[in-house]
Amino acid sequence: MEVIAESWHSLPCVCVNSCEEEKLVSNKNQLQEHTSSYYAATINEYPAFPQLRGAKSADICVVGAGFTGIATALTLAERGYSVAVVEANRVGWGASGRNGGQLISGVGGAARLRKKHGEGVSDLLWDLKWRGNDIIFDRVKKYSIDCNLKPGYIDVALKPRHVSDLEDDMKELQRRNFPYQYHLLDRDETQETLGTEAYIGGLTNMRNGHLHPLNLCLGEAHAAVGLGAAIYEQSPVTEIVHGARPKVMTDQGYVEADSVVLAGNAYHKLEAKHLSGLTFPAGSYIIGTEPLPSEVIDEINPQDMAVCDLNEVVDYHRLSADGRLLYGGRCNYSGREPASIKSSILPRMLKVYPQLKDVRIDYEWGGKVGIVIKRVPVLGRINSNVWYSQGYSGHGVNNTHIMGEIMADAIAGQMEKFDLFAGIKHYRIPGSQWIGNQVIALGMLYYRLRDLL
Ligand SMILES: Cc1cc2nc3c(=O)[nH]c(=O)nc-3n(C[C@H](O)[C@H](O)[C@H](O)COP(=O)(O)OP(=O)(O)OC[C@H]3O[C@@H](n4cnc5c(N)ncnc54)[C@H](O)[C@@H]3O)c2cc1C
Repeated sequence: MEVIAESWHSLPCVCVNSCEEEKLVSNKNQLQEHTSSYYAATINEYPAFPQLRGAKSADICVVGAGFTGIATALTLAERGYSVAVVEANRVGWGASGRNGGQLISGVGGAARLRKKHGEGVSDLLWDLKWRGNDIIFDRVKKYSIDCNLKPGYIDVALKPRHVSDLEDDMKELQRRNFPYQYHLLDRDETQETLGTEAYIGGLTNMRNGHLHPLNLCLGEAHAAVGLGAAIYEQSPVTEIVHGARPKVMTDQGYVEADSVVLAGNAYHKLEAKHLSGLTFPAGSYIIGTEPLPSEVIDEINPQDMAVCDLNEVVDYHRLSADGRLLYGGRCNYSGREPASIKSSILPRMLKVYPQLKDVRIDYEWGGKVGIVIKRVPVLGRINSNVWYSQGYSGHGVNNTHIMGEIMADAIAGQMEKFDLFAGIKHYRIPGSQWIGNQVIALGMLYYRLRDLL
């Protein structure tokens, strides 16, 4: 299972040049609404949150309202802290509101963590691996969040060594008496389950699943507000003024707090002295078809599973609640932003489902993933009261929720899990972002070669 956890969405695609979002942040003229995606088109209505104006005070101020920021804020609010969240654009504007919606267990860099801390942490890592799923399933129920959460996921094998990986994962589930349904599928069963000859095996897991990520993020944000948290949108943070009570500055105001949590992931450039070069922004891209007829759905995914292959650089797909195929993956290995997302991703989708050749594509979009060379999420703190968590290497829906809880624990003084991650020394690529992305582009080629073997 670990192989999956570590490889899922790893290094999906790279943009070296001018991703539109790179122009973001710190200038109010560049404030952005949600990118035009299937998710933005089906967003639950919500009144915009105000801009930050004037002086505010809170126990904790969180910068960035993606899953990391919102999950941390909600956990803290549940524990009675006063929390303010400051977001440059909109809640869920970044990767959290744009992703594949695949809820997959795992802890980034688990093998590396075991190597560093010893096999003694294996049980802890196993529990953490499922913790993000538990938090999400619990919150969706507790706060009645309307985000189309559905159990059902399948890892699919493209080559014999993937089948061996799945067999190992299966043994681990058995050894741990995993309490949810899972099945190892042979070639015929996989082909029957997914209506394609592209895969030669699969492992289903009913504790994983899929969801509408933007609506989950918004639902959690509203849950936090219901517990007293304040959220400010369209308020890019320009600077952190350090001190006993650091100040989170925007052009029009600030929040003073006992602790600050930086949760801007691939989109923020704050605290460059400490954080630049530790994570790299790589692009990942998705297309969405028109709603498919029920007979086509019955053929390609009658059990409504989220699907992800086992390549190093993965392709992934699932059906939306209204029956569209949302298909995502890599575009190229050149390290450049694709000229057309649709013409890059569509051939990959048709390789798996040639029967969809006449289907209309209604949506195409992308977003930035924070890649970490060692795959372990980058957790740490600056001056004892400015905390950060970022870099889930494309495996963020569950990991952000795990880390949100770990950050909240750490702020309350429970450091064990935080130290597990913060103890990893990460590689820092010196120089400009351009140079960093060239390195990632080379890394992409390496993984592509491995996938070809
Ligand atoms: C196309 C795509 C598909 C993906 N598919 C999956 C998937 O299916 N399953 C999965 O597990 N993971 C997936 N991922 C990865 C996952 O979405 C991310 O790991 C996760 O959402 C990261 O959440 P985050 O809150 O850390 O960052 P983000 O969601 O990117 O949020 C960061 C926020 O910080 C804000 N911000 C930045 N700078 C500032 C500032 N100076 N002031 C104030 N706010 C600031 C940004 O505006 C943004 O809203 C995918 C990612 C992409 C892009």
